[in-house]
Amino acid sequence: MQRVKSIVTGGAGFIGSNLVDRLVKERHKVIVLDNFISGSRNNLSHHSKKNVKIIKIDISNNKNLYKYFKGVSYVFHLAGLAEIIPSIKNPRKYFINNTLGTLNVLEASKKAKIKKFIYAASSSCYGSPKKIPTKETEKIDTKHPYAFTKLLGEEAVMKYANFFNMPNISCRFFNVYGPRLNTRGQYGAVFGNFLIQKQNKKPLTIVGTGNQTRDFIYVDDLTNAFIKLIKSKVRNKIYNLGSGKETSINKIASIVGGEKTFIPKRPSEPNRSCANISKIKKDINWKPKISITVGVNKLFSN
Ligand code: UDP
Repeated sequence: MQRVKSIVTGGAGFIGSNLVDRLVKERHKVIVLDNFISGSRNNLSHHSKKNVKIIKIDISNNKNLYKYFKGVSYVFHLAGLAEIIPSIKNPRKYFINNTLGTLNVLEASKKAKIKKFIYAASSSCYGSPKKIPTKETEKIDTKHPYAFTKLLGEEAVMKYANFFNMPNISCRFFNVYGPRLNTRGQYGAVFGNFLIQKQNKKPLTIVGTGNQTRDFIYVDDLTNAFIKLIKSKVRNKIYNLGSGKETSINKIASIVGGEKTFIPKRPSEPNRSCANISKIKKDINWKPKISITVGVNKLFSN
């Protein structure tokens, strides 16, 4: 029997490589498109060539992606630049990567008549929302080029669903954590920093008071939602993808344990963030299973 084929753009990154693991478990044949700027071959080195084909490519300056998409059923478009401060320093680079890159992937997917297209959007589209937990219908208020370019990507995905009747879904990720998260970036995500600091027996860097909150979702819960999405009939929808729980940075630091040091606040950061996840829970009968305490302990015991 022919195996189902899926493409994961950004498949060598943190979330992408966890998704590839899950798809291989589901017996998909996976094609990874990655430029290896933030992703790494190590994240996929446990896979055989039979299951995972890796292609080094820049999706943003390549209009002829179709040859990789022929015969593919599912596209997970996760590739993109992800840091806020570099996006303020170099907005053009973010436009080209995140917006034009998405357009190229959409074009190839349209031509290949794929069965489902899933886009990794960002909860940063809400800025500092009035209502928390935040629903998908909350006012959009992008506060930096990263948020803006991810939103433009989402709009392209939803417009392609309308214009060309494509089966597209956009998932607005909240704060995803789990194994292989990036610990290299200069403006590292909180878990990446805490992991390195813990390993090196350094104090945990707490930005501001540490009372600010985020909605942290363990990567396995997120990939579970993806599997349910491709198996369901839903299309042309936008979903929040978070845990639905609000956790302070101080709480994370206390689960991790050890000394803390306080550092200045960063620009354009919201004070609170939490997803209302009723819509996705109802539509695909999914719910997150890994509590923050279990997730953090899992991550730090690896
Ligand atoms: N943060 C922190 N220490 C760090 C890195 C981040 O206290 O070493 C805080 C940061 O100020 C923010 C939260 O953790 O309030 C999440 O930051 P991250 O960069 O992981 O995600 P984002 O700000 O994009 O939600």
